[in-house]
Amino acid sequence: MTPPLDTLQSLINTWFGRVATGDGDETLQSPADLARWCRGHGVDVADGEISAADLELALAVREGMRAALARHNDAEQPADAAARERLDQVASDLHLHVTLDGGRPRLRPREVAPVRHLMATLLAAAVLADQDRTWQRLKVCREPRCRAAFYDTSRNNSGVWCSMSACGAAAKQRAFVERRRARNAAARRAAAP
Ligand SMILES: [Zn+2]
Repeated sequence: MTPPLDTLQSLINTWFGRVATGDGDETLQSPADLARWCRGHGVDVADGEISAADLELALAVREGMRAALARHNDAEQPADAAARERLDQVASDLHLHVTLDGGRPRLRPREVAPVRHLMATLLAAAVLADQDRTWQRLKVCREPRCRAAFYDTSRNNSGVWCSMSACGAAAKQRAFVERRRARNAAARRAAAP
């Protein structure tokens, strides 16, 4: 996966579900949290430069992208349509332009404010990834309590869980319990007079 698609993955994973408890951990709780995350991705920005509107934009991009990527894994959630609509709304307000600087066409953000610039960069990255077919490999874990973004490196793009040892194992365990329950129910029915 090439940058900045990995930045998009990192943004999505600023919220991650806890499989054990069913709730999640939000690491972007304030504009200062977002400033810290931006600095971790090469955007030099002070805490005071990030507004509440910036945080709202980043969260709309994050959840809209999570919803879009869930479809790569056949794992839509009830809230996905609303999140995608919200992303459509905020994306229509972000400006990008085509440049032929260096002779090759490039899609570039036309935003000055750091968070808006970065979010426009991530949208452009999604367009590029769709063209080079890496977009289909960026997925959201099928485990509904996890929903982490992961890059599927399997040969035939068949991965469905972020990690076989965590979410894959949890799904297998559930399937095992369900099979046993069904077997026991059938045995009880057979034993009934
Ligand atoms: Zn997972």
